[in-house]
Amino acid sequence: MSTRFSGKSIIVTGAGSGIGRASAIGFAAEGAQVIAADRSDAVHETVRRIEAAGGTARAFQGDAGSEADVAAMVKVACELQGGIDVFYANAGISGGLTGLFDCTVELWEEVLRINLIGPFLAIKHAAPKIVERGKGAIICTASVAGLRSGAGGPPYSASKAGVISLVQTAAQQLSGSNVRVNAICPGLIETGMTRPVYDHAREVGKIDRIGRLNPMRRGGEPEEIARAALFLASDEASYINGQAIAVDGGLSSSH
Ligand code: NAD
Repeated sequence: MSTRFSGKSIIVTGAGSGIGRASAIGFAAEGAQVIAADRSDAVHETVRRIEAAGGTARAFQGDAGSEADVAAMVKVACELQGGIDVFYANAGISGGLTGLFDCTVELWEEVLRINLIGPFLAIKHAAPKIVERGKGAIICTASVAGLRSGAGGPPYSASKAGVISLVQTAAQQLSGSNVRVNAICPGLIETGMTRPVYDHAREVGKIDRIGRLNPMRRGGEPEEIARAALFLASDEASYINGQAIAVDGGLSSSH
């Protein structure tokens, strides 16, 4: 077993499904003590899988877009795990594909609250604790939709572009602290969020069309994003800071 994160205290939000679950499992498999946070009780299944594999994790059920809940998950990590080394702000919602002129203000507010204010709150509350450790990392899940709109609904794309800006600002503001802040921009990944797209493609016998615009000719797996998150959290990424890294099979470079 690799021990890249042995003794490290790591919070992952959106850990009840998809990319967050794969990442929580990946961090724990490499020795981390993980706070697996999600608003869904599916997070208990993530913890069960980690423990069954011999790892250490605690479930935190709460809202990654609520300041009180983010402050509480940071407090739990500090009290039960002695501090925080890594925060992976991954929780997000798609908000659907409603066209710009049909979007409501309520939809914009909810997507921005979870997808953009959530990562801001993670940085605001976790960064001071990570700084106390002398080094560490914050990772946020953005999207290829944040690099160029079109891969999601209007508030989704704007929220993810905001996340890319946020990590640049945070990296600057944490200058000299040895805490790195980066974003991952996944392409199309098969998770709870994209299940309707995959289910429909399977139903109509066109699953092979899912990756037709991708140079890899396929969609991605949650574990392929998790591996990037683990890399960015590790010392191997010691000089990568303030970046938005596409993990999309080449999609964003080809269209
Ligand atoms: P998913 O739906 O499988 O998982 C998202 C998890 O986040 C769910 O367990 C959900 O309960 C949780 N969540 C949602 N809102 C929350 C909140 N307010 N507080 C706490 N938990 C909350 O989807 P996923 O694809 O794994 O999504 C993870 C991240 O990846 C999201 O930020 C998403 O925007 C991003 N992303 C996904 C894709 C893709 O193709 N799947 C592509 C680009 C970016």
